[in-house]
Amino acid sequence: MIKTFTGPMHSGKTAAMIATYKKIWNKDHILCFKPNIDTRDIGEIRSKDYDISIPSIGVDTFEEILNYVDDKARTIFIDEVQLMKGSVNVLSYLSIIKDIDVYLGGLNMTSEQEPFLMMPYVLAISDEIEVIKASCFDCGRDATHTYYIGEKTEKVRVGDEGYIPLCRRCLAKRRGELEAKKLYLRKKENIN
Ligand SMILES: [Zn+2]
Repeated sequence: MIKTFTGPMHSGKTAAMIATYKKIWNKDHILCFKPNIDTRDIGEIRSKDYDISIPSIGVDTFEEILNYVDDKARTIFIDEVQLMKGSVNVLSYLSIIKDIDVYLGGLNMTSEQEPFLMMPYVLAISDEIEVIKASCFDCGRDATHTYYIGEKTEKVRVGDEGYIPLCRRCLAKRRGELEAKKLYLRKKENIN
């Protein structure tokens, strides 16, 4: 079984995963992972918004997880899964053949509303997807988008600073029609 918690930043994806973790009484059969590329809170899965955390192992690829999986493992958690490298087929193998429950947390879209790196593949192989909504920074309604209010330098930034959740109405207002059209309708060379 593969279940993915997704949604914008500050929606409580990690908190939802930690709540699932806490409900499991015998923790001896749980493995938690996080990509090394996310240098925030090394060695733990942490929700800053809710100030809760669980210990985790840093990995770079899905394949690396196989080194830690033994016959004891029944449940696996991976946070910030959008930043993982390798093949999601490893997750299918763990779920189908090893009969492990896999819980994943990750951002579905960038702050430009593009599918986030590994996430389209992760969502495609998930048995269950829970889209968690944040609260709109501007109006307080349900927010499904992330917006960056600072100057962007790198293609993919890791961290929380400068990112706010917005509903689509407030996103359209902040972005403006011209910029939105330029951003969303630009030609993509890498899509077949
Ligand atoms: Zn709003």
